[in-house]
Amino acid sequence: MSLQAVTPPLAWEGKPYHPISLDYRQRFGGKVVKIPVSIADTCPNREGLRGMQTCIFCDEHGSFAYAESQGLDLERQVAEHRAKVASRFNADKFLIYFQAYTTTFTALGKLREGMELACRLDDVVGMVVGTRPDCLSEAVLRTWREMHQRKWVGVEIGVQSFDDDQLLWMRRGHTGAQAIRGIERVAKEAQVDVGVHLIFGWPTETDKQLIETARLCNSLPISNVKLHNLHVLKGTPLADLYASGEFRPVDLDEYSHRVGIFLDHLDPRIAVHRLAALSSRWDELIAPDWVRHKMKSWQGVIDRVNDGGHFQGRCFNPHVEPNVGPQVNPQIEQDEIEITT
Ligand code: SF4
Repeated sequence: MSLQAVTPPLAWEGKPYHPISLDYRQRFGGKVVKIPVSIADTCPNREGLRGMQTCIFCDEHGSFAYAESQGLDLERQVAEHRAKVASRFNADKFLIYFQAYTTTFTALGKLREGMELACRLDDVVGMVVGTRPDCLSEAVLRTWREMHQRKWVGVEIGVQSFDDDQLLWMRRGHTGAQAIRGIERVAKEAQVDVGVHLIFGWPTETDKQLIETARLCNSLPISNVKLHNLHVLKGTPLADLYASGEFRPVDLDEYSHRVGIFLDHLDPRIAVHRLAALSSRWDELIAPDWVRHKMKSWQGVIDRVNDGGHFQGRCFNPHVEPNVGPQVNPQIEQDEIEITT
Protein backbone atom coordinates (compact mmCIF):
# COMPACT_ATOMS: atom_id res chain seq x y z
CA MET A 1 0.00 0.00 0.00
CA SER A 2 1.27 3.46 -0.88
CA LEU A 3 2.18 5.71 2.04
CA GLN A 4 1.72 8.82 -0.04
CA ALA A 5 -1.22 11.14 0.58
CA VAL A 6 -4.12 11.12 -1.87
CA THR A 7 -5.89 14.29 -0.74
CA PRO A 8 -4.87 17.31 1.36
CA PRO A 9 -5.91 17.11 5.04
CA LEU A 10 -9.27 18.71 5.88
CA ALA A 11 -7.56 20.96 8.44
CA TRP A 12 -5.95 22.85 5.54
CA GLU A 13 -9.42 24.16 4.64
CA GLY A 14 -9.17 23.72 0.90
CA LYS A 15 -5.62 24.99 0.55
CA PRO A 16 -3.11 22.78 -1.27
CA TYR A 17 -0.59 23.41 1.49
CA HIS A 18 -0.22 23.34 5.27
CA PRO A 19 -0.94 26.97 6.19
CA ILE A 20 1.19 28.64 8.86
CA SER A 21 -2.01 30.17 10.28
CA LEU A 22 -2.96 26.67 11.43
CA ASP A 23 0.29 26.34 13.40
CA TYR A 24 -0.14 29.78 14.90
CA ARG A 25 -3.70 28.97 15.99
CA GLN A 26 -2.53 25.73 17.60
CA ARG A 27 0.47 27.35 19.25
CA PHE A 28 -1.09 30.61 20.43
CA GLY A 29 -4.76 29.66 20.73
CA GLY A 30 -6.09 32.13 18.16
CA LYS A 31 -5.39 34.24 15.15
CA VAL A 32 -1.96 35.88 15.17
CA VAL A 33 -0.54 38.33 12.65
CA LYS A 34 2.89 39.82 12.22
CA ILE A 35 3.80 43.44 12.87
CA PRO A 36 6.75 44.21 10.54
CA VAL A 37 9.37 46.55 12.00
CA SER A 38 12.80 47.73 10.99
CA ILE A 39 15.78 48.13 13.33
CA ALA A 40 18.51 47.62 10.73
CA ASP A 41 19.56 49.85 7.87
CA THR A 42 22.11 47.79 6.03
CA CYS A 43 23.47 44.31 5.35
CA PRO A 44 26.82 42.71 4.51
CA ASN A 45 26.20 43.02 0.77
CA ARG A 46 25.44 46.73 0.94
CA GLU A 47 28.59 47.22 2.99
CA GLY A 48 30.61 45.47 0.29
CA LEU A 49 31.70 42.67 2.62
CA ARG A 50 30.83 40.01 0.08
CA GLY A 51 32.13 41.79 -3.01
CA MET A 52 28.51 42.57 -3.97
CA GLN A 53 26.42 45.71 -3.68
CA THR A 54 22.95 44.27 -3.33
CA CYS A 55 21.25 41.03 -4.10
CA ILE A 56 19.91 41.12 -7.65
CA PHE A 57 16.27 41.51 -6.59
CA CYS A 58 16.55 43.74 -3.50
CA ASP A 59 15.13 47.25 -3.40
CA GLU A 60 16.57 50.20 -1.52
CA HIS A 61 14.38 49.50 1.52
CA GLY A 62 15.86 46.07 2.20
CA SER A 63 12.55 44.27 1.53
CA PHE A 64 10.64 46.17 4.22
CA ALA A 65 6.86 46.44 4.04
CA TYR A 66 6.54 49.92 5.59
CA ALA A 67 9.44 51.87 4.11
CA GLU A 68 7.87 55.22 5.01
CA SER A 69 8.35 54.51 8.72
CA GLN A 70 11.96 53.35 8.54
CA GLY A 71 13.90 55.51 11.00
CA LEU A 72 11.02 55.92 13.47
CA ASP A 73 11.70 54.62 16.94
CA LEU A 74 10.64 51.05 17.51
CA GLU A 75 7.73 51.72 19.87
CA ARG A 76 6.18 54.07 17.34
CA GLN A 77 6.66 51.58 14.50
CA VAL A 78 4.99 48.88 16.59
CA ALA A 79 2.06 51.16 17.49
CA GLU A 80 1.51 52.37 13.91
CA HIS A 81 1.92 49.02 12.17
CA ARG A 82 -0.12 47.19 14.81
CA ALA A 83 -3.04 49.53 14.15
CA LYS A 84 -2.78 48.81 10.42
CA VAL A 85 -2.55 45.02 10.62
CA ALA A 86 -5.11 44.76 13.45
CA SER A 87 -7.82 46.43 11.40
CA ARG A 88 -6.81 44.78 8.14
CA PHE A 89 -6.75 41.24 9.54
CA ASN A 90 -9.13 41.66 12.46
CA ALA A 91 -6.54 40.32 14.91
CA ASP A 92 -5.66 41.06 18.52
CA LYS A 93 -2.56 38.89 18.98
CA PHE A 94 0.71 39.72 17.29
CA LEU A 95 4.24 38.67 16.49
CA ILE A 96 6.81 41.42 16.12
CA TYR A 97 8.66 40.74 12.88
CA PHE A 98 12.15 42.25 12.59
CA GLN A 99 12.07 42.30 8.82
CA ALA A 100 14.22 44.87 7.02
CA TYR A 101 17.76 44.37 5.75
CA THR A 102 19.87 42.00 7.92
CA THR A 103 18.69 42.39 11.49
CA THR A 104 21.61 40.44 12.97
CA PHE A 105 24.10 42.66 11.16
CA THR A 106 23.08 45.55 13.37
CA ALA A 107 24.22 46.12 16.96
CA LEU A 108 23.22 43.30 19.26
CA GLY A 109 22.13 45.85 21.88
CA LYS A 110 19.54 47.20 19.44
CA LEU A 111 18.18 43.76 18.67
CA ARG A 112 18.02 42.90 22.34
CA GLU A 113 16.18 46.16 23.09
CA GLY A 114 13.64 45.31 20.39
CA MET A 115 13.15 41.84 21.79
CA GLU A 116 12.78 43.23 25.31
CA LEU A 117 10.01 45.49 24.03
CA ALA A 118 8.26 42.46 22.50
CA CYS A 119 8.52 40.67 25.86
CA ARG A 120 6.85 43.60 27.65
CA LEU A 121 3.82 43.91 25.37
CA ASP A 122 0.88 41.76 26.51
CA ASP A 123 -0.74 41.39 23.09
CA VAL A 124 2.58 40.34 21.51
CA VAL A 125 2.88 36.55 21.76
CA GLY A 126 6.33 36.27 20.23
CA MET A 127 8.87 37.62 17.80
CA VAL A 128 10.27 36.64 14.43
CA VAL A 129 13.72 37.69 13.27
CA GLY A 130 14.66 37.75 9.59
CA THR A 131 18.32 37.33 8.69
CA ARG A 132 20.92 35.86 6.35
CA PRO A 133 22.55 32.47 6.97
CA ASP A 134 26.02 33.98 7.34
CA CYS A 135 25.19 36.59 10.02
CA LEU A 136 24.76 34.28 12.99
CA SER A 137 27.27 35.04 15.69
CA GLU A 138 27.38 33.03 18.89
CA ALA A 139 26.17 36.11 20.78
CA VAL A 140 23.07 36.32 18.58
CA LEU A 141 22.30 32.63 19.02
CA ARG A 142 22.71 32.93 22.79
CA THR A 143 20.39 35.95 22.87
CA TRP A 144 17.68 34.10 20.93
CA ARG A 145 17.98 31.10 23.19
CA GLU A 146 17.63 33.26 26.29
CA MET A 147 14.72 35.31 24.89
CA HIS A 148 12.90 32.16 23.82
CA GLN A 149 12.66 31.18 27.49
CA ARG A 150 10.60 34.35 28.01
CA LYS A 151 8.57 34.61 24.82
CA TRP A 152 8.37 32.55 21.65
CA VAL A 153 11.10 33.30 19.08
CA GLY A 154 11.11 32.28 15.43
CA VAL A 155 13.93 32.91 12.97
CA GLU A 156 13.38 33.21 9.22
CA ILE A 157 16.52 32.71 7.18
CA GLY A 158 16.78 34.19 3.70
CA VAL A 159 18.13 31.17 1.85
CA GLN A 160 16.44 31.89 -1.52
CA SER A 161 18.13 28.89 -3.16
CA PHE A 162 20.44 26.04 -2.18
CA ASP A 163 21.97 25.98 -5.66
CA ASP A 164 25.36 27.71 -5.80
CA ASP A 165 24.96 28.83 -9.44
CA GLN A 166 21.63 30.46 -8.65
CA LEU A 167 23.06 32.04 -5.50
CA LEU A 168 25.92 33.48 -7.53
CA TRP A 169 23.55 34.76 -10.22
CA MET A 170 21.47 36.57 -7.62
CA ARG A 171 24.61 37.94 -5.94
CA ARG A 172 23.74 36.61 -2.51
CA GLY A 173 27.32 36.35 -1.34
CA HIS A 174 26.79 33.03 0.45
CA THR A 175 26.66 29.40 -0.61
CA GLY A 176 24.08 26.65 -0.23
CA ALA A 177 26.36 24.90 2.26
CA GLN A 178 26.48 28.05 4.40
CA ALA A 179 22.69 28.18 4.37
CA ILE A 180 22.47 24.58 5.58
CA ARG A 181 25.04 25.18 8.28
CA GLY A 182 23.23 28.37 9.39
CA ILE A 183 19.89 26.55 9.66
CA GLU A 184 21.45 23.74 11.67
CA ARG A 185 23.21 26.14 14.04
CA VAL A 186 20.07 28.17 14.76
CA ALA A 187 18.06 25.02 15.45
CA LYS A 188 20.74 23.40 17.60
CA GLU A 189 22.40 26.30 19.39
CA ALA A 190 19.53 28.79 19.73
CA GLN A 191 16.83 26.08 19.93
CA VAL A 192 14.21 28.32 18.37
CA ASP A 193 11.77 27.75 15.56
CA VAL A 194 13.44 28.00 12.11
CA GLY A 195 11.90 28.93 8.77
CA VAL A 196 13.44 29.54 5.36
CA HIS A 197 12.60 31.90 2.53
CA LEU A 198 12.92 30.55 -1.00
CA ILE A 199 12.59 32.23 -4.38
CA PHE A 200 11.29 30.41 -7.45
CA GLY A 201 11.36 31.69 -11.01
CA TRP A 202 15.05 31.47 -11.88
CA PRO A 203 15.84 31.35 -15.59
CA THR A 204 17.56 27.97 -15.33
CA GLU A 205 15.32 26.33 -12.70
CA THR A 206 14.28 22.73 -13.42
CA ASP A 207 11.68 20.39 -11.92
CA LYS A 208 14.55 18.23 -10.66
CA GLN A 209 16.02 21.17 -8.74
CA LEU A 210 12.63 21.99 -7.20
CA ILE A 211 12.23 18.40 -6.04
CA GLU A 212 15.75 18.39 -4.58
CA THR A 213 15.01 21.67 -2.78
CA ALA A 214 11.87 20.18 -1.24
CA ARG A 215 13.74 17.05 -0.16
CA LEU A 216 16.53 19.12 1.31
CA CYS A 217 13.98 21.16 3.28
CA ASN A 218 12.51 17.86 4.53
CA SER A 219 15.91 16.80 5.82
CA LEU A 220 16.62 20.06 7.69
CA PRO A 221 15.42 21.16 11.16
CA ILE A 222 12.91 23.71 9.84
CA SER A 223 9.24 24.13 10.63
CA ASN A 224 8.16 26.52 7.88
CA VAL A 225 8.94 27.93 4.44
CA LYS A 226 7.97 31.15 2.70
CA LEU A 227 7.88 31.20 -1.09
CA HIS A 228 8.62 34.27 -3.17
CA ASN A 229 8.33 34.67 -6.90
CA LEU A 230 11.22 36.43 -8.59
CA HIS A 231 9.91 39.79 -9.71
CA VAL A 232 11.53 42.95 -10.98
CA LEU A 233 11.55 46.11 -8.85
CA LYS A 234 12.71 49.57 -9.85
CA GLY A 235 16.28 50.44 -8.94
CA THR A 236 17.48 46.83 -8.62
CA PRO A 237 20.18 45.07 -10.66
CA LEU A 238 17.41 42.81 -11.97
CA ALA A 239 15.69 45.87 -13.46
CA ASP A 240 18.80 46.46 -15.61
CA LEU A 241 18.78 42.86 -16.80
CA TYR A 242 15.08 43.15 -17.57
CA ALA A 243 15.63 46.39 -19.52
CA SER A 244 18.39 44.77 -21.58
CA GLY A 245 16.24 41.70 -22.30
CA GLU A 246 18.56 39.35 -20.39
CA PHE A 247 15.87 38.41 -17.85
CA ARG A 248 12.20 37.66 -18.30
CA PRO A 249 10.06 36.67 -15.29
CA VAL A 250 8.05 33.48 -15.53
CA ASP A 251 4.31 33.77 -16.13
CA LEU A 252 1.64 32.77 -13.63
CA ASP A 253 1.13 29.30 -15.15
CA GLU A 254 4.83 28.47 -15.08
CA TYR A 255 5.33 29.83 -11.56
CA SER A 256 2.33 27.86 -10.30
CA HIS A 257 3.71 24.71 -11.93
CA ARG A 258 7.02 25.20 -10.11
CA VAL A 259 5.26 25.77 -6.79
CA GLY A 260 3.13 22.66 -7.39
CA ILE A 261 6.17 20.46 -8.05
CA PHE A 262 7.87 21.77 -4.91
CA LEU A 263 4.77 21.24 -2.76
CA ASP A 264 4.25 17.70 -4.06
CA HIS A 265 7.58 16.71 -2.51
CA LEU A 266 7.50 18.85 0.63
CA ASP A 267 6.89 17.13 3.98
CA PRO A 268 3.28 18.01 4.92
CA ARG A 269 4.38 18.77 8.48
CA ILE A 270 6.32 21.85 7.28
CA ALA A 271 4.06 24.92 7.39
CA VAL A 272 3.94 27.26 4.42
CA HIS A 273 3.49 31.01 4.85
CA ARG A 274 2.08 31.51 1.37
CA LEU A 275 2.77 30.48 -2.18
CA ALA A 276 3.97 33.83 -3.49
CA ALA A 277 5.35 36.69 -1.42
CA LEU A 278 4.97 39.72 -3.59
CA SER A 279 6.35 43.23 -3.71
CA SER A 280 5.83 45.22 -0.55
CA ARG A 281 5.76 48.42 -2.63
CA TRP A 282 3.52 48.35 -5.68
CA ASP A 283 4.94 51.57 -7.11
CA GLU A 284 8.30 49.81 -7.45
CA LEU A 285 7.02 46.86 -9.46
CA ILE A 286 8.16 46.61 -13.09
CA ALA A 287 7.32 43.00 -13.96
CA PRO A 288 5.60 40.60 -14.17
CA ASP A 289 2.22 42.17 -14.39
CA TRP A 290 0.39 39.21 -12.82
CA VAL A 291 1.74 40.07 -9.37
CA ARG A 292 0.30 43.59 -9.47
CA HIS A 293 -2.97 42.53 -7.82
CA LYS A 294 -1.94 40.85 -4.60
CA MET A 295 -4.98 38.80 -3.62
CA LYS A 296 -5.78 37.91 -7.22
CA SER A 297 -2.30 36.59 -7.85
CA TRP A 298 -2.20 34.58 -4.61
CA GLN A 299 -5.53 33.02 -5.47
CA GLY A 300 -4.33 32.54 -9.06
CA VAL A 301 -1.40 30.44 -7.85
CA ILE A 302 -3.61 28.39 -5.50
CA ASP A 303 -6.17 27.76 -8.27
CA ARG A 304 -3.53 26.60 -10.73
CA VAL A 305 -1.80 24.39 -8.14
CA ASN A 306 -5.20 22.82 -7.35
CA ASP A 307 -6.07 22.46 -11.05
CA GLY A 308 -2.75 20.69 -11.65
CA GLY A 309 -3.65 18.13 -8.96
CA HIS A 310 -0.72 19.20 -6.82
CA PHE A 311 -0.76 19.47 -3.03
CA GLN A 312 1.84 19.44 -0.31
CA GLY A 313 3.15 15.99 0.49
CA ARG A 314 1.45 14.30 -2.49
CA CYS A 315 4.72 12.58 -3.42
CA PHE A 316 6.31 12.65 0.03
CA ASN A 317 7.08 9.30 1.59
CA PRO A 318 8.88 9.51 4.93
CA HIS A 319 10.22 5.99 4.52
CA VAL A 320 12.04 6.57 1.24
CA GLU A 321 13.23 10.17 1.55
CA PRO A 322 16.93 10.26 0.64
CA ASN A 323 19.40 12.38 2.51
CA VAL A 324 20.19 15.06 -0.08
CA GLY A 325 22.03 18.35 -0.38
CA PRO A 326 25.57 19.63 -0.39
CA GLN A 327 27.96 18.55 2.33
CA VAL A 328 28.88 21.28 4.74
CA ASN A 329 32.47 22.42 4.79
CA PRO A 330 33.56 23.13 8.38
CA GLN A 331 35.74 25.98 7.06
CA ILE A 332 32.70 28.14 6.36
CA GLU A 333 32.34 29.02 10.02
CA GLN A 334 35.29 31.36 9.53
CA ASP A 335 33.14 33.36 7.12
CA GLU A 336 30.42 34.15 9.57
CA ILE A 337 30.07 37.81 10.28
CA GLU A 338 30.20 38.95 13.89
CA ILE A 339 27.80 41.69 14.77
CA THR A 340 29.00 44.69 16.73
CA THR A 341 28.04 44.58 20.36
S1 SF4 B 1 18.17 40.84 0.27
FE1 SF4 B 1 19.05 41.19 2.29
S2 SF4 B 1 21.24 40.69 2.04
FE2 SF4 B 1 20.40 41.02 -0.04
S3 SF4 B 1 20.82 43.19 -0.48
FE3 SF4 B 1 18.73 43.03 0.39
S4 SF4 B 1 18.99 43.43 2.58
FE4 SF4 B 1 21.00 42.90 1.74
